[in-house]
Amino acid sequence: MAAYQIRLFGDPVLTQRAAEVTDIDGSLARLVDDMVATMHEARGMGLAAPQVGVQKRLFVYQLEDREPVAIVNPTIAESRGEWEYDEGCLSIPGLYFPIVRPKEIHLTGWDLDGNEISIEADEIEARCFQHELDHLEGRLLLKLLDKDQRKEAMRELRRRSEAVGS
Ligand code: ZN
Repeated sequence: MAAYQIRLFGDPVLTQRAAEVTDIDGSLARLVDDMVATMHEARGMGLAAPQVGVQKRLFVYQLEDREPVAIVNPTIAESRGEWEYDEGCLSIPGLYFPIVRPKEIHLTGWDLDGNEISIEADEIEARCFQHELDHLEGRLLLKLLDKDQRKEAMRELRRRSEAVGS
């Protein structure tokens, strides 16, 4: 398994809508292995294909003490409630913001064997699914920030890019 370089904020691949997966085959399984290796190396809980430069509707995630799971062509069938959580993103490392999203969701999709998946998720798991689905839509969490949070985030991101440039 080889780890990818995670695409960072500013990379255009992160703001494009990913395409439906049409074939669940061996190449997809290899992609998933490499994405899981990348997620582990970055100590993340979830990783969407566009974050490694692949424009496919697919993400991997792993909850504590469980095996990693890949979900292909995911859809949120239903969402309920509200929950605030300090959310971060491997493509915007080190920045966390309290963001309100639905607390519970019903996610459907496909596994790597082509079987339909249906998961009732809440709190952290539901948060992770919503975050990864946003990536598939080309939406970064910066879009969910309020005005003051966004100002703070942009200031920090500008500071970083200046530091790199100097
Ligand atoms: Zn993210």
